[in-house]
Amino acid sequence: MDRFDQFSPEHVPFLDGRLKRMLIGGQWVEAASGKTFESRNPATGQLLATVAEGDSVDVDRAVTAARRAFNGPWSKFKPYERQQILLKLADLVERHFDELSLLDTLDMGAPISRTRANKRRALGMLRYYAGMATALHGETIENSLPGEIFSYTLKEPVGVVGAIIPWNGPLGASIWKIGPALATGCTVILKPAEEAPLTPLRLGELALEAGVPEGVINIVPGFGDTAGAALAAHPDVDKVAFTGSHITGQKIIQASAGNLKRVSLELGGKSPDIVFSDADLETAVPGAGMAVFANSGQICSAGTRLFVERRVYDEFVGQVAEFGRGLRVGNGLDPDTQIGPLISEQQLDRVTSYLSIGKQEGARALSGGSRITDGPLASGYFVPPTVFANVRDDMRIAQEEIFGPVISAIPFEDIDEVIQRANATTFGLGSGVWTKDVSKAHRLAKGIRAGSVWVNCYQAMDPAVPFGGYKMSGYGRESGLQQMEEYLNVKAVWIKTA
Ligand code: ADP
Repeated sequence: MDRFDQFSPEHVPFLDGRLKRMLIGGQWVEAASGKTFESRNPATGQLLATVAEGDSVDVDRAVTAARRAFNGPWSKFKPYERQQILLKLADLVERHFDELSLLDTLDMGAPISRTRANKRRALGMLRYYAGMATALHGETIENSLPGEIFSYTLKEPVGVVGAIIPWNGPLGASIWKIGPALATGCTVILKPAEEAPLTPLRLGELALEAGVPEGVINIVPGFGDTAGAALAAHPDVDKVAFTGSHITGQKIIQASAGNLKRVSLELGGKSPDIVFSDADLETAVPGAGMAVFANSGQICSAGTRLFVERRVYDEFVGQVAEFGRGLRVGNGLDPDTQIGPLISEQQLDRVTSYLSIGKQEGARALSGGSRITDGPLASGYFVPPTVFANVRDDMRIAQEEIFGPVISAIPFEDIDEVIQRANATTFGLGSGVWTKDVSKAHRLAKGIRAGSVWVNCYQAMDPAVPFGGYKMSGYGRESGLQQMEEYLNVKAVWIKTA
C-alpha cells in the first residue's frame, strides 16, 4: 500500500460513482441533452467522476432560474441575511475543508500540502465577503444646483452574473466569484473548467446546505466553446466575471457585445521578477523559485521573467536552479510532494514544446528542461522545475505565457533599464522586486505597469487587497472594495424638496 492511500478517492464520499449533476434552480439535474463527460486525476489518469455536460440549453435554464431568483425572493434578503448565509457557508467549508482540498488535489493535481494550505485564504475570503455584505452603501452627495434639491446614490446588485473559471485552483476560484455575488445580492451561474469541475459542484452542495435560496447559485459544468460561450453571449446575463486565458478573454468581450453586458477579466501574464544584487539572496532564491514553481507554474501571476542584476546573475540563477532540483516532484496525494503534475496532456504538450523552443532559441536549461520519463512519474504529466539561463528579451520563452514550471532568467545592468524591459510585454498582472534599498523598491513599484507589485515577497494575496491586470492581463479587480464595485450598479437619485 502506498503511504498516501489514505487520501485515495474511495475516502471521498462525494466520489460515490454516481453521475455528478448540475445545479439549476436549487435542483441537481442532468444535462437536457443527457450528455456527460469524465473528470480524471491528472497524476494517474484515474476516472474520478462522470459529470453532466451542460450546453446552451442548460445555460438558458440556469439563467432563467437565476433571473427568477434575482427578481423574486432574493431581492428581499437584507444584507444581514446574506451575511449570515456567507458565514454559514464559511463554517461548512471549514468543516469539510479536508474533503474540498482533497477534491482539488485529485481533480487538478496540485499537491495536498498546497491545497490544504489554502484553508486560511478560502475561509478568509468567505468571511470577508460576509463582512462586506453589511458594509456596502451609497453616498449623499452635496450638489450645487440652485434651490432645494437633494441627491444621493444607491448601490444596487448588477443582476445575473455569469462566472467562468479556470482549473488551476477550483475551490478558490469558485469562492472568488460566488462570494461577491452573495455579498452584493446578485445571482450567479458558475461555469467550472471542464478539467476540474468537482470541487465547485461539492461547494454547490454546501451552498444549498448553508441556506442559499434556489436559483441564487447555479452551477453548469461543460466545455468552453459550448456552455462557456453560451453564458458569455446570453442576452439575459448582466455581467460576466471571467478568469482564464487572454485569447478566451477576447472571445468573451466579443460575445458580450450583444447586450453590452459588464465584463471583468482576470487573464494571463508574463510577470517580471527583479532581483537586485543588494537583495537578501537567501530569501530571494526560494522566493523567486516558488514565484514560478508553485502549482507547477500554473498561476497567472507567476514571476516567469526573472531579471537578475548581472553582478550576481550566474551565482543567483545557479542557486535558483539548485533550489528547483531540490523540490520534490510527485503525485499530489503524497504529503511530501511540493510540485505536482500539469493538468492535462494538452498542457504537457504546450509546456514541453516551449522547452524545445527555448533550447532552439539558444537558452540553456540549468535544471529540468524536459518532462520526466523515468520511474513511477513517467506516465503522468510531470515537468520538473526548469531554469533557463542565457535568455534574451526577444525569445519566445521570454515573451509568451508558458503556464508551466519554467523560469526564463535574464541579466540586467541598472534600474531604469530594467523598468523599461520589465514593461516590454503585452501583459501586466504581477511583478516582484527583491532589494534592501527602499528607494529602489518605491521606484519599481511606481514604474512597473502591472496590477500587483510584490517587494521582497511574491504572490501575497488577501481578500481585502485588489488583484487584477493592466494591459492584456485584463480589467476589473478581484478582492477588496474594487471587486464589490464590479458587482454593483450606481444609481443617482434626485429629490426636489421645495
Ligand atoms: P485555460 O488555458 O486556463 O484553460 P481558458 O481561457 O481556455 O484558459 O479556460 C478558462 C475557462 O474559460 C474554462 O472554464 C473554459 O471552459 C472557458 N472557456 C473556454 N473557451 C470559452 C469561450 N469561447 N467562451 C466562454 N468560455 C470559454
